[in-house]
Amino acid sequence: MLNCNCIFCKIIGGEIPSAKVYEDDLMLVFKDIEPKAKVHLLAVPKTHFALLSQADAEGKEMLWHILEKIPGVASQNGCGNGYRLVINQGEDAGQTVHHLHVHILGGETLGW
Ligand SMILES: [Zn+2]
Repeated sequence: MLNCNCIFCKIIGGEIPSAKVYEDDLMLVFKDIEPKAKVHLLAVPKTHFALLSQADAEGKEMLWHILEKIPGVASQNGCGNGYRLVINQGEDAGQTVHHLHVHILGGETLGW
């Protein structure tokens, strides 16, 4: 993480400020700076990897931890009535930051 130059690693390291809504040893959740829904949060593992296919044992542990924590974080942040999770993978999906992240979208009725 320390050697990483990516923007999410810098947010995790505190070099770049973010609107944090949840943090623990394995993950960080903060508000997307360009929200695509009324509530748009990004949940990121604290270890750097870009794709699900690149997750090592530690990354897999973090991913599972993230999925376990999301329901509570989502309901505490205005998504008590439902939300959508999106994990973009690679170029065709428009993955712009190559540090795996889970989009949490909600706070309103979502279109497709
Ligand atoms: Zn990173």
